[in-house]
Amino acid sequence: MMSPVGRAGARRIAIGGILHETHSFMERATTRADFADQSLHFGAEMLRVMRGTRSGIGGMIDRATEMGWQLLPTLYAAAMPGGTVTAAAYAELLSQLCSRLEQSLPVDGLLLALHGAMVAEGQLDAESDIVGRARALVGEATPIAVLLDMHGNISPRLVELADVLLAYDTNPHVDAFARGVEAAAIMSRLLRRELRPTAACARPALLLPAQSTGTALPPLAPVHKRAAEMETLDEVVCIAVMAGFAYADTPFTGPSIIVTTDGQPELAAACADELSALLYTQRSTATSSFLAPDEAVRLADSRKQGPVILVDSADNIGGGTTGDGTDALVAMLANDVDEGTIVLADAQAVDICWRAGIAAEVTLDVGGKVDRWHGPPVTVTGAVRALSDGVFECEVPDNHFASFYGSTVHMGRSVWLRVAGVNILLTERKTPPLDLAQLRHIGIVPESQRMIVVKSAVAYRAAYMPIASEAIEMDTAGLCSANLARFPYRHLQRPLYPLD
Ligand SMILES: [Zn+2]
Repeated sequence: MMSPVGRAGARRIAIGGILHETHSFMERATTRADFADQSLHFGAEMLRVMRGTRSGIGGMIDRATEMGWQLLPTLYAAAMPGGTVTAAAYAELLSQLCSRLEQSLPVDGLLLALHGAMVAEGQLDAESDIVGRARALVGEATPIAVLLDMHGNISPRLVELADVLLAYDTNPHVDAFARGVEAAAIMSRLLRRELRPTAACARPALLLPAQSTGTALPPLAPVHKRAAEMETLDEVVCIAVMAGFAYADTPFTGPSIIVTTDGQPELAAACADELSALLYTQRSTATSSFLAPDEAVRLADSRKQGPVILVDSADNIGGGTTGDGTDALVAMLANDVDEGTIVLADAQAVDICWRAGIAAEVTLDVGGKVDRWHGPPVTVTGAVRALSDGVFECEVPDNHFASFYGSTVHMGRSVWLRVAGVNILLTERKTPPLDLAQLRHIGIVPESQRMIVVKSAVAYRAAYMPIASEAIEMDTAGLCSANLARFPYRHLQRPLYPLD
């Protein structure tokens, strides 16, 4: 008899994901509604929605289907980065995962997509808690493979609980699908008992601001290069070079290197120690220079060729900030920029413009409304050029956004507001600058801008640098400032460079 999902006698593999990158210093907590707003799918619906996406779990599903496994879906929950996850939301996600996993027993293996930097109220080590609960259900002998975002902060307990930990090798994250495929491929070796995974984890005593976690540049690039050499050894199963997420305040916050070998604990430890030491020697490259927004705008305006990317990395939406920071807008307006673009998340302003309608002239306050960290609201007068439902398909399928949510983006109702020479794209929901279709879908032509403000630390590079003449880092107000000394840490294990 054929089973409805897979072949009779096929491997029974449970699958699921709970992903959140938590910014501990954000005032607003992350709720169930924030997951529902982005990606929250249970059971069979989860497979239907995430199959075919370029996400990590999409890669797992793809390979599992190829292997003829019977997939037993639990849930897939991913919210935009933001404040600490409420106890209620966390408890519900965890209990959905556990109850659905329990109903699926017995299983031959478990594939999980997690972030690694999730913090819930009363739970500083959410990923270990999740994998620990899953482990208790499936038992010691059932393999668990976990795919992480390389921004995860990893505890020793997580390394013990999982059979294999993998992580994206890229930032911007363009290999999530490939790593998902790899996780499932390693799972198939585990199922055949071809591997006896043993892992070691080493941590250098430093913190990396998000701005320094691009994988194409130091300090991470040389570490990845050496890790790739090590991965050519037969005994090395995989290496996760974790940059960590400095704004999640936990005892494990910071970079770590996890090396998994086939039954070679000493080799695992030696590789992890070498890579960790290498990263530490690169630490001076983790601090970059930033220009005041006014100076940055004038420099961009002096360039013959555009667009110049103005990097507003302190308001890094991908790091959990509000996406409504106004410092760069103020600087562009003050300098009479002609063809400058900025995206601001501001549902109130969107509503005013939608009521006014296309071609209306409006005077309103934009940005700076969510908290006191991202500059004050700015009063502007401008014309409503276009309205949209804010839904667009990414131009580049393997983009950073698609790594988590799939390639259809929902920004909520959106507005192109033209204020003097500045194009303001107002969106109901904060949306990181990961794909040029975000601008193009409403009529703003990115290539013809003199300058474009991106609210992102690194993730913007995949989409924007191919069309940009250069990028200039700005010293703006915001909760993802590269100056980590600004943050009132309570849980870090110190000393850590550059704080101490
Ligand atoms: Zn990440």
